[in-house]
Amino acid sequence: MLKHDKSKEAMKQARELMPGGVSSPVRAFRAVGGEPPVIARAKGPYLWDIDRNRYIDYVGTWGPAILGHADDTVVEAVCAAAKDGTSFGAPTLRESRLARMVIDAVPSVEQVRFVSSGTEATMSALRLARAATGRDLVVKLDGCYHGHGDSLLVKAGSGVETLGLPDSPGVPAALASLTLTVPFNDLPAMEALFEKKGSEIACIIAEPIVGNMGVILPDDGYLEGLERICDAHGALLVIDEVMTGFRVALGGAQSLYGVRPDLTTFGKVIGGGLPVGAYGGRADLMEMVAPAGPVYQAGTLSGNPLAMAAGIATLERLMEAGSYDRLETQSARLADGLLAAARDVGLPVFGTRVGSMLGLFFREGPVQNADDARGSDMDRFARYHQAMLERGIYLAPSQFEAAFVSLSHDDEVIDRTIGAAAEVFRELAA
Ligand code: PMP
Repeated sequence: MLKHDKSKEAMKQARELMPGGVSSPVRAFRAVGGEPPVIARAKGPYLWDIDRNRYIDYVGTWGPAILGHADDTVVEAVCAAAKDGTSFGAPTLRESRLARMVIDAVPSVEQVRFVSSGTEATMSALRLARAATGRDLVVKLDGCYHGHGDSLLVKAGSGVETLGLPDSPGVPAALASLTLTVPFNDLPAMEALFEKKGSEIACIIAEPIVGNMGVILPDDGYLEGLERICDAHGALLVIDEVMTGFRVALGGAQSLYGVRPDLTTFGKVIGGGLPVGAYGGRADLMEMVAPAGPVYQAGTLSGNPLAMAAGIATLERLMEAGSYDRLETQSARLADGLLAAARDVGLPVFGTRVGSMLGLFFREGPVQNADDARGSDMDRFARYHQAMLERGIYLAPSQFEAAFVSLSHDDEVIDRTIGAAAEVFRELAA
């Protein structure tokens, strides 16, 4: 048994100081039970907790750590930037440099605005979509997470006519009622909604590959279908690539599925582990953002020099030849190994993967929408999570999260993970 005495004590104290002892809810392990290890440091594919346990990490700080933790080139870039001053609240060359990299990599993005989180990026993109169309309604897909902005914290209704209900106390019902929800991968439902309300809808916002209910892939033609519906009704398509941007390909998921959104949101990987988000898209839309235009959006630390330096260093590494091929090879090795191990013991498990984003559902497939994902065996997932942690494998503490592979996950690390999973699957199948 791993010892967690120091972590347990630290969490006990933290709970007196911060709600649930954490700065973001899912870190508290409520869905899987037990106490979260309190992390002391990380390097490459590994995390160490304050009890000196070492874990192979597949959370990757929820996506950003695509090179592995504390990558030397990123750390050097951040240190060099820090020596020149940590924030000026004034224009810098690094912002233009990162903007150029994003614009060159993602053809639908002609201009970009940096913010400090994915939540800010999606909130700002919605404001811009509403301003540009003069319409108030927004459509989101059931189970997609776009951060905690009021308009996007809306539970999926059971039918497309159902107006959204607030998913959280504190979100005004009047605001939530402007957000309509439709199941993912259901074009007829989207068409029916637009037939009724199309002239009032500012935008559809969608994760192109859903990474917030496990990993769910878009059906063939689904994203193009969303684009077509938006075009037909004068609504904008906002593709939320906070998780997928620079993760599944340099050009994001939109480059894999051949869609050209009006606006795209970014976060995670473009900040290389520092707080960064961004939104961008058609120049005529972005020119509406202050100070070029009237749509107000601002931030004291936006375009922060350390964050820009980390983002630039990360994207430079990803642009080196072979980076995405390696992510693909290592991730395929992991996914194939896990699924084979489950098959060997007859455990019903359904795997999904795009590049280095993996989902593992404790149920038979297919999993095409949030209701399918909710049909997974949550109890089994919790036992899997605990048993893997005990074997030194750190997975996201929820069935509804993705696993991320980094460039630092070598064969040995991946094979050790598969070996641990094979033992756990055997216990779960017994
Ligand atoms: N959009 C997506 C697709 C995300 O996965 C997330 C975070 N998991 C967000 C937006 C919100 O980003 P942040 O946590 O940086 O506010």
